[in-house]
Amino acid sequence: MTCNSPLERDTLLAYRLGELDADSEARVEEHYLGCASCSRRLEEFTALAGAVRAVTRMSGVSFVVNDRFVRQLAQNGLRVREYSVPLNGSVDCTVAPGDDFVIARLEAPLDEVERVDMVYLGSDGKPETRQEDVPFVAESGGVLFSTRIDMVRALPRTTLRVRLLAVDESGERILGEYRFDHTPYGSDRPR
Ligand SMILES: [Zn+2]
Repeated sequence: MTCNSPLERDTLLAYRLGELDADSEARVEEHYLGCASCSRRLEEFTALAGAVRAVTRMSGVSFVVNDRFVRQLAQNGLRVREYSVPLNGSVDCTVAPGDDFVIARLEAPLDEVERVDMVYLGSDGKPETRQEDVPFVAESGGVLFSTRIDMVRALPRTTLRVRLLAVDESGERILGEYRFDHTPYGSDRPR
């Protein structure tokens, strides 16, 4: 059974995240209760919304994710913009109007690494905030992280830097540094 006026994926996700106002929420409920197709889609979004909530809770602005989470987003029709940043390298980045998530893959040698901390550096190069013990999969050869897309959209042309540290009982060492040269969507910096 198909649906003639399927609920928008953004609406479904917002519904499951509890972000809709009462009127919209009532409209969504009325629709999916009478629609097998949309109620099945809603079930899929329930699993996804749980994952989204879990990672956004980890910290306000940026959060570290895994490959499985990124695949899940794409499978649910969300638009994921992904950048690979080479070890000690940089990337030109932006966010397009239709993007739902922006993910950066920071390439790093993670063999034998026990714990990874991620440090956000200020424009003066000094460490500003530190996220301890971020999740990573050593075989993937990198750490995936995402910054809330509304925050990225609001950024002016700017440069962001992060540093990955390997930490163990003997101390810490720098794994790599990464630079994001961010341009607001549609502005004219040569790429
Ligand atoms: Zn429907």
